[in-house]
Amino acid sequence: MDSTWFSFTGEVPADGYRWLLGRPINQGPRSKPTAYLTRVTTYTDSFLSRRYDAQQVPRSLFRTFADLPTNEDGIRAFANEYGGLGVFEAFQPKASDVTVVGEPLQGEPIARWCEQIVTMRRLTALWDLCQAQDLPGLGRHIRWTDERGQRVVRYSHAGGEPGLGEDADVSPKEVVLASPTHHPEWLAQWSPGDLMLPALFHLADEINQQLHFHDSLRMMWEPQQKQLALRLPVPTLRDLLWAQFAEAIVSRRSFRKCKTCGTWFELLPGLARTNRLFCSEGCRSKLYRMRQEDARRLRGEGKSVAEIARLLESDVRTVKGWVSSK
Ligand SMILES: [Zn+2]
Repeated sequence: MDSTWFSFTGEVPADGYRWLLGRPINQGPRSKPTAYLTRVTTYTDSFLSRRYDAQQVPRSLFRTFADLPTNEDGIRAFANEYGGLGVFEAFQPKASDVTVVGEPLQGEPIARWCEQIVTMRRLTALWDLCQAQDLPGLGRHIRWTDERGQRVVRYSHAGGEPGLGEDADVSPKEVVLASPTHHPEWLAQWSPGDLMLPALFHLADEINQQLHFHDSLRMMWEPQQKQLALRLPVPTLRDLLWAQFAEAIVSRRSFRKCKTCGTWFELLPGLARTNRLFCSEGCRSKLYRMRQEDARRLRGEGKSVAEIARLLESDVRTVKGWVSSK
């Protein structure tokens, strides 16, 4: 199964997005104003928009999303590339910010974006611990206790980061995953003290709560392959990101962040996995050149070859080659 198994059409308005202060229209005028992500131009005509489909979305997009800074600039840059999440609501903008007063606009409240980013960040981090089989790390989240002779397994998380949209739910979480009265069938499948399976079950449970769109499988024409294919239509970008995450878990995909530019990319099987630290050949040679320059600079400062090798996490032979080839 491939992420192109999902069918999705994204849309980015030609003039992009901006933030406007406003109040949700379904709440009274006393409600606090909040920032809404909204189209720069309010034309509803979409002929000026750029469109893309699921095939044009990198499989690592959900990881890029999980890394987004929870501030207006970071979110707007992502939306200008991929469009809104699809969590819009009608709001009344502040009169001074718009030319036509009185018309409600459609926008995506910043708290919804922050809540989605933080949830994705929390769950991708949990998945990283599972993939790395990091038991001490998992032990910070999954706990087995004995309560009046009964086994109880809990998941907990310390809570969110400061500086988030004010309404985002970043409170510490603690939930009972399983006990003799709550999901006893899960408890029966876990060996006492195991952390991996409870973490995976919880991951699936939380992702399933995000995957609540109600589309069904469809046969669709694939113009490129000129054949019919079975596809699951995904209504919004938000849904696509969670579907991508779910698919990555069941297909056991691995992702890495490029050491040079920070872009997330998928580690494809068949390639020398441990050597794949870069998103592209360009980034690989760029870092190589930077390290070479660092080695020469350190040599110029009088550092020994052995010392340079230690500082640059390289080996003596490589460093010798770098400092001698002028
Ligand atoms: Zn790169």
